[in-house]
Amino acid sequence: MKTIQPESSNLIDGKAIADAVNRETATRVADIGKQYGATPGLAVILVGDNPASKVYVNTKVKKCAELGIYSEKIVLPKETSQPELLDVIHKLNCNPTIHGILVQSPPPPQIDEAEVVKAVAPDKDVDCFHPQNVGRMLLGDLTGFLPCTPSGVLQLLQRSGIETAGKNAVVLGRSNIVGKPMMALLSAKGVDATVTMCHSRTKNLADFTKKADIIVAAIGKPEFLRGDMVKKGVVVIDVGINRVEAPDAPKGYRLVGDVAFDEVAPKASKITPVPGGVGPMTIAMLMRNTVLAFEASFKR
Ligand code: NDP
Repeated sequence: MKTIQPESSNLIDGKAIADAVNRETATRVADIGKQYGATPGLAVILVGDNPASKVYVNTKVKKCAELGIYSEKIVLPKETSQPELLDVIHKLNCNPTIHGILVQSPPPPQIDEAEVVKAVAPDKDVDCFHPQNVGRMLLGDLTGFLPCTPSGVLQLLQRSGIETAGKNAVVLGRSNIVGKPMMALLSAKGVDATVTMCHSRTKNLADFTKKADIIVAAIGKPEFLRGDMVKKGVVVIDVGINRVEAPDAPKGYRLVGDVAFDEVAPKASKITPVPGGVGPMTIAMLMRNTVLAFEASFKR
C-alpha cells in the first residue's frame, strides 16, 4: 500500500493545529488561575464498558490534566437506569466545581440519549448538544459553545488559510453531532459557504461531490469517497473513523476514514489524514468549550 508521508505539502496536520489550540487553552486556564484563583472543571460520564468509549473518556481526562483543567471521571455500571443517570447529571448541574458535563456516546440501549442531552444544564453543555445551544448556533450566534467536531473542522479550514466564502461545500452525512451542525457552521454569516448536504437517500451523490470546492465526509463508511468523485484542487476534510480488519497490523485492525486517501490526496489541494486529522481537534474544542463555560459562569 502506498503511504503518503505527513510532510506532504497538501496535508492538513490536525495534530499540529490541535496542539496550537491546546496551547491557547492552557494559557487561558493559567490566566484564570491567576485572576480567579479557580480551575475550570469537566465531568465525563461513562455508562457501561464499551471499549472504544473507555479509550475516548480516558483520552479526554488525560488531556484535561495536560492543560490544567480539573476533571471527574464518573463510571456507571452498564445496567444504570435512566433515572439514576439523570440524578447524577442533576447533581453535576448544581456542582460549582464542574463547568462542563459530557455523557460519552453511545449509552447502553435502556438510556434515552435525547433526554440525557436535555438534562445537562445548557451552560454546562460543552458538547453543544442541548436544543437551546443548537438553536442559538442555528440562529447565527457563534459566540457560545459550538459542537466540538464541526467547530474543529472549521478551525482546521480557517487555520490552514482555506477560503470558505462563496465556495461550494458538500457535507456528507446529516447526523445531529456532525453533519447538521457542520452545515450550519459552513453556511453561517462570516463563513459564507454555499452548502449542500448529502445523505443515504441522495441520488447521484457524485454529481454533488464532483462540483465541490470543499468536502466534509462524515458518514462512517470506510473509504467511501473515491478519486473519481472529486475534482482537482478540492479541499477534503475526513471526519470518518472506521476500523477495518488488517491481520498484519499489531491490533488486527487499522483505522481508515470515509475517504479513499490514496486516490483522493493526489487530486486534493488540501486533505486531512485519518488518524491525525479531525480527531485531535474534537478533543481540543471540548477543552476550549470547558474554559468558555468557566468564563461564562463568572459573567452571569
Ligand atoms: P451517523 O451514523 O450518526 O450518521 C451517518 C450519516 O451518514 C447519516 O446521515 C447517513 O444518512 C449518512 N450515510 C450513511 N451511508 C451513506 C451513504 N452510503 N451515502 C451517503 N450518506 C450516507 O454517524 P456520525 O455522524 O456520528 O459519524 C460519522 C463518522 O464520523 C463515523 O465514522 C464516526 O466514527 C466519525 N466521527 C468522528 C469524530 C471525530 O472526532 N473525528 C467525531 C464524531 C464522529 P441517513 O441519515 O440517511 O441515514
